[in-house]
Amino acid sequence: MEEKGLSIKAVGITKRYSKNKIGLQPMSMDIKSKSFVALMGPSGCGKSTLLKCLNGDNPATYGEVYIHGLSLLDHYDLVKKNIGYVPQDDIIHRELSVYKTLFYSAKLRLPDGTSNQEIDRRIDKVLKSLKLDQHDQGDTPDQKDIKAKKVKELSGGQRKRISIAVELLTEPSILFLDEPTSPLDPETIDSFLNSLKELAKEGTTIIMVTHKPEDLNYVDEVVFLGVKGHLVFKGPPADILKHFNVSSIIEVYSEMSDLKAVKKLYQAPSDTLPSTDSNPKISRSKADSSLRQLYWLAKRYLNIKTNDSGNLFLLLLQPLIVGGLVSLVFSEFRIGVLFLTVISAIWFGVSNSAKEIVGELPIYKRERMYNLNINTYILSKLIVLALIALLQVLIFTTIIYFNFSFRAVSEFPDTYLRPFAFSVAFLFFISFSASLIGLFLSSYFSNTEKVMTVVPITLMPQIMLAGVMTKLDSRIVEILSFFTLGRWGTEGFARMQDGYFQDRDMEPESVIIPEFNPDGYYKNDCKCETSGALEQLGLYDADLIDKGVLIGDVFNNQYANLIAVGLLSVIMYLLIFISLNKKDSL
Ligand code: ADP
Ligand code: MG
Repeated sequence: MEEKGLSIKAVGITKRYSKNKIGLQPMSMDIKSKSFVALMGPSGCGKSTLLKCLNGDNPATYGEVYIHGLSLLDHYDLVKKNIGYVPQDDIIHRELSVYKTLFYSAKLRLPDGTSNQEIDRRIDKVLKSLKLDQHDQGDTPDQKDIKAKKVKELSGGQRKRISIAVELLTEPSILFLDEPTSPLDPETIDSFLNSLKELAKEGTTIIMVTHKPEDLNYVDEVVFLGVKGHLVFKGPPADILKHFNVSSIIEVYSEMSDLKAVKKLYQAPSDTLPSTDSNPKISRSKADSSLRQLYWLAKRYLNIKTNDSGNLFLLLLQPLIVGGLVSLVFSEFRIGVLFLTVISAIWFGVSNSAKEIVGELPIYKRERMYNLNINTYILSKLIVLALIALLQVLIFTTIIYFNFSFRAVSEFPDTYLRPFAFSVAFLFFISFSASLIGLFLSSYFSNTEKVMTVVPITLMPQIMLAGVMTKLDSRIVEILSFFTLGRWGTEGFARMQDGYFQDRDMEPESVIIPEFNPDGYYKNDCKCETSGALEQLGLYDADLIDKGVLIGDVFNNQYANLIAVGLLSVIMYLLIFISLNKKDSL
């Protein structure tokens, strides 16, 4: 299929979304190398859809796309390195500096062994080619070099250019841009489009979605789509008015919003390819999964977290406030404190992670297209989230520990949380596991609002099924509780406290028990008269266990609790993987 001078050849491509919704009507087109092409049409006509079909972000349902003569779907791993793509949303993190943004992208995308000097050379080159090395007009000379500025301090136009700069680092031969000029003011547009024009002259084919008629002055060719994904025009900008027999581009827009007029001008493909696969999936290699990628991803993520000092401060303030409140409200270490400690650990984990994937979805998707490995991505998140959770749990447990050790309580002189190190370790494990729940929500839903709506719904069962608010009294409720960290956390933490006393032949009720439960609880098939924190949980009603309604204390040891939490974590990890994997073929 190699044809000289062609960058892209699309043959009979058609796009159907789910429920047979039309994305694109069949169309064919050739795009010459080194040309600068504008893609126009009324809102919702399928411009972004076409762009995604051509670059593999969301492949066509039927038909074939060839990039430099290679089938996009069959040779995606080869072809993708030639493709630069900036979707409508920014694909850069706002918290990083411009230099770090480009540096990490280079580390993640460029081949192993690319030297730092080479990376710096490329960064300077792309900044220059996008005219980003010049100072803004309003800038005084002593103002920061753009490389040192944080992305969030940039103007919309500069941010867009940094997104493009990220793509240019790998020197792609084709660059797809979705509405890059929308956030720009007219003056910036001129310098921006001139720099693109130069790029095209130097050898990069550029396909740019735009709404602005004045952008046509800079491009070599225009592709115009009418409503419902019909191709109605492809040719030089000078011919467009004649073709539609109108006097301004605005009129073309209004005409092409009318389906009847569109159907008259629709350019159906002459060549069609039978396609057998109506659910195309791109072949991706696993070649780029490596420890190196994990290292740079985790490092970047940590950098993002530490740069956002306001948020970091709030994260660490949380355990201080909650720990302080618990200390204030409870005068002694009782079951309520134990329960709230576990629920706080769960809360920290879920709330730390719930926004972390959904908040950077455009970035994730773009990097996934390029070379990101899903497991590497999840692990990089977990490493940093674990660190944060550890800090929070440490602060929280320290407050609780010291508060209840030093406060004299006349009835229970020895009351305090113990043993400290095990408590921290156990709570950390719970919090880490809760991070996986948050990450799952973050990977499953498509926007942050939805995630934030669902977070409380996932937390409620943790609270309700822990056996503290109420007794578990039916098999169904009990089985549901097996799927919550609330249950395993509270049970395990209580067992840990009790274990401390049992090991030392101390009388637990003299130290920890505000209310003694005369029924005792089940242990190794016998009713035990001992009393401890564990027994105060409404998890093992002796009568219900006798009647066979409840399973009760299934495992009866600390390790079983840890294994249960571990299993829940593994399930969550798999769910995260599945949700992320599903995003590939949306
Ligand atoms: P635009 O020309 O404004 O970029 P799009 O290509 O984004 O238009 O969308 C074209 C049509 O396809 C719209 O009606 C849109 O609602 C629909 N569409 C886009 N993406 C999806 C999707 N992932 N699933 C279902 N429908 C979609
Ligand atoms: Mg669009």
